[in-house]
Amino acid sequence: MSFSEFTQSILINGKWKEMNQDKTEAIYNPATLEKITAVANGGADEANEAIAAASSAFSQWSEMTGRKRGKILYKAYELMLEDIDRLAQILTTEQGKPLKEARGEIKGAANFLLWYAEEASRGYGEWIPSSVKSKRLLVIPKPVGVVGAITPWNFPSSMITRKLGPALAAGCTAVLKPSPETPLSAIEIMKIFQKSGMPDGVVNLVTGDAEAIGQAMIEHKDVRMITFTGSTAVGKYLMQEGASHVKKLSLELGGHAPIIVFDDADIDKATTLALASKFRNNGQTCICANRIYVHERIMEAFTTRLKEKVEALNVGSGLEDHVDIGPLINEQALSKVQAQLDDALTKGAQVIIGGQPWEGKLSGHFFEPTILSNVTDDMLMMHEETFGPLMPIQPFTDDHVAIEKANDTDYGLAAYVFTENTSRAIRTSEKLDYGIIGVNDASPALPEAPFGGIKQSGIGKEGGHYGMEEFLERKFVSIGIDA
Ligand code: NAP
Repeated sequence: MSFSEFTQSILINGKWKEMNQDKTEAIYNPATLEKITAVANGGADEANEAIAAASSAFSQWSEMTGRKRGKILYKAYELMLEDIDRLAQILTTEQGKPLKEARGEIKGAANFLLWYAEEASRGYGEWIPSSVKSKRLLVIPKPVGVVGAITPWNFPSSMITRKLGPALAAGCTAVLKPSPETPLSAIEIMKIFQKSGMPDGVVNLVTGDAEAIGQAMIEHKDVRMITFTGSTAVGKYLMQEGASHVKKLSLELGGHAPIIVFDDADIDKATTLALASKFRNNGQTCICANRIYVHERIMEAFTTRLKEKVEALNVGSGLEDHVDIGPLINEQALSKVQAQLDDALTKGAQVIIGGQPWEGKLSGHFFEPTILSNVTDDMLMMHEETFGPLMPIQPFTDDHVAIEKANDTDYGLAAYVFTENTSRAIRTSEKLDYGIIGVNDASPALPEAPFGGIKQSGIGKEGGHYGMEEFLERKFVSIGIDA
């Protein structure tokens, strides 16, 4: 797949903006560290221009019927699926995940558009029975207005449609700032929206200086809501900055997911699920397992089976067939994995498999999939998000202690329970302080279901009817009548 030296990346009011090409941001293939292309390095001016375009487009888009907006979203869904192979190639080239995962992500991204194409017709209001005979009480849903959307690099396609699908379905218009690591998937999604018949200005794209673009979104009075997916640190910053403008926020932040494997678990199934949860996207997934608690009685059998499965994983460029583990996104990601591993080894952890940067022919930032035992609670990886292929396993004997340890974190995004006992699964799910629980399910995320964290993992939900609700405000109309 070939790219030109420079790819236009700022879309405002339906036009790709000509930018000074001295002010660009290079995009690299994380597997080879080769430059793919460069994109525009926009800032506050471009963000303000994009917000003005979204603001002008708001009346036309919000006044369109939900059915009509849904038809446009449905067309975008079809276009995305028709082009799945090329879009997956682009995603893997800029992000690194194996092509089979990239295809899965594009399919998932398209499915958000499908779900919200249908949901666009269902922004229901309410007629409240009045306690006063001479009044009729009406609640009308209204789109919040212009939305600023900020997305990360780990799911460069589906994180965008999971936000823009419901925002557009609700009648909002938007300005998107994607991650500087992965803007090419965002550019492709904008082209799909353009081809789907979406009016100019309804969605706008600005790549470049995160702080300047973010600040413009916070300060501009026409931006009524910011929807952000990324780290908890940046989420807190946006909350603080947004406070002085009382900006509505929806935040999908970091996680530190535990898996509890009970002694009645099916070991073959549990190891396959643990592997899928931990090593999907090379551990760079907000809901991926960060720590595993296994009942002492099955610890040895579990670890042995897991090791066999990890041995069979192939590391390499995601563009090659049969690769399961791609590169980490950048050097900082690799350093974080190494630092967490060094900390654990100093404190007595033992490597069961892996434990080294991968010695392949590619120059990207690869690390071997790694299992660790003898882990203790004071190790960094047991309380900080790793975002890499380290899997610490700790035995437990008392179910209550395992649940207590699982909950002992400021994060609250996803947790997993592997057991064949339904009552135990339900009891444990009820006790876990997390927004998402996977019971014998390593990927509890679907367009029709609410996705989102509690505690410091976020505010609000994406997906399902809850996802569209975030982008609607309720207006109360009290009507006096002759009784
Ligand atoms: P990040 O560093 O927080 O960046 C996320 C986005 O925010 C990027 O586009 C980034 O742009 C932008 N950003 C950074 N500082 C900003 C500022 N001051 N104002 C406005 N925008 C700003 O996170 P990341 O490393 O890309 O993604 C990994 C994190 O996302 C992990 O913690 C992961 O758990 C979380 N995540 C959560 C979910 C979820 O659904 N809960 C899903 C996926 C990922 P720059 O890179 O240019 O700074």
